[in-house]
Amino acid sequence: MVLLTFKEKENWLEARKMSMFEDIPVDVGVVYEGERIRKKDMQVELGGPKIQHKFELVRVRKPEEVEDGKIRIIGPDIRDIQPGTSNPFGILVEVAGEELEEELEGVIERRIHEFTNYIEGFMHLNQRYDIWCRLSKKSFEKGLNTFELIGKVMIRLYKAELPIIEKIQVTFITDPAEAKNRYEEALKIYDARDARARGLKDEEVDEFYGCILCQSFAPTHVCVITPQRYSNCGAISWYDGRAAARIDPKGPIFKIPKGETIDTFKGEFSGANQAVKEKSMGAVQRVWLYTAFGYPHTSCGCFEGIAFYIPEVDGFGLVHRDFKGAAVNGLPFSTMADATAGGRQVDGFHGISIEYTRSPKFLQVDGGWHRVVWLPKAFKERVHDFIPGDVRDKIATEEDVKDLNELKEWLKSKNHPVVEHWKEEELVAVPETGTEEAEAIPVLSSIEAGTPIALPYTGGFRVKLKGVKIHVGKFVIHKVKTKK
Ligand code: SF4
Repeated sequence: MVLLTFKEKENWLEARKMSMFEDIPVDVGVVYEGERIRKKDMQVELGGPKIQHKFELVRVRKPEEVEDGKIRIIGPDIRDIQPGTSNPFGILVEVAGEELEEELEGVIERRIHEFTNYIEGFMHLNQRYDIWCRLSKKSFEKGLNTFELIGKVMIRLYKAELPIIEKIQVTFITDPAEAKNRYEEALKIYDARDARARGLKDEEVDEFYGCILCQSFAPTHVCVITPQRYSNCGAISWYDGRAAARIDPKGPIFKIPKGETIDTFKGEFSGANQAVKEKSMGAVQRVWLYTAFGYPHTSCGCFEGIAFYIPEVDGFGLVHRDFKGAAVNGLPFSTMADATAGGRQVDGFHGISIEYTRSPKFLQVDGGWHRVVWLPKAFKERVHDFIPGDVRDKIATEEDVKDLNELKEWLKSKNHPVVEHWKEEELVAVPETGTEEAEAIPVLSSIEAGTPIALPYTGGFRVKLKGVKIHVGKFVIHKVKTKK
């Protein structure tokens, strides 16, 4: 089996594309990953926020059930779709091979994102039931006017990069009724996959898995996937990570030895710190896996949802990508996604998968579900059984409250646990300079120029500055709470 690093892959594709893709009318290469196609430049939109029935799915089949190289189109082909429209869309990839197991479906499925993005003028965002694709007018005019061509590229890349795939067939679905039926089936398959991955604890394993597939869009993003912290996109579990690292150890998903446990509660592990540091080229130095503050897990752009801090009530809101309209803080998902994404560690704006909210480790440092005050009704229904019974009815949805004032009243009337914190809140007195108390606070030192500083959420700090010029891009002050 030939295993390639990302750089080698780029060189390999470059060297082979003349023969491998000579019948494809547009360019195919790593360079097109991350390409965005604006509405005014798009020929057609497939899936996306306006469309409910969209999905991508990989199934492992018996050899006799797969016709190698076959591409089927159910519904109108690209050239028959009205330009500028948004359409239902499904991609079904069926594979067979002696070494293939159902356990690998999730990771093979996630490569659809990578391979289709290699195609010049084709954009693929998100995953599973949430895909959003666009084809540019420019590539359409060059001749990329049928799914046949996209299928050919996918099949060739799959076979070249994952040689354990011996047979593969791809079906594209644009027929609305067919897309609806298959979408419902796909949801059941995703749920079953997620359920299979539950039960194992972070404490019970010696290794985690990392993924850098999203670095084409967010260059410093590194997902650290543990049994109890599912990947941000919700498409890769710890088991998927293990399977992916086994079949393609030099690929975008890799093993992370857990190393020393630095803080069990926050979820800080020396191996994870080392991995994010290396894979983010030093941009991210530490990661605390179970909190949205301090050194939170980075957020790429294809997270399924966002946990956003609401300072007015000292609680968290949750919102998922499909939620239309504004969340309780007045901001739509897209605006908060801009504040969250890009591979950064942003205090209080945290990209998450829906499956992570089912984990006992979900934001455990910040209070977990007992700190959540608002989420969309559809989200709440999906995770209903995982919300602790003592707080479930105290968390509002868009049907209960419309804005922060109403939310505040609601929380008070329900005696939500965050209300207790409101009474406890007071500003901590800052010790006077030169006093023994002030001297006892640790000094932050050895900070290289240009290094972003993630300050501890609690505990206090002092900064001594000598002979420096100070440039402040953003200065955020959080209230510190103490118990009386
Ligand atoms: S969100 Fe994370 S796990 Fe999912 S594809 Fe992106 S980097 Fe990989």
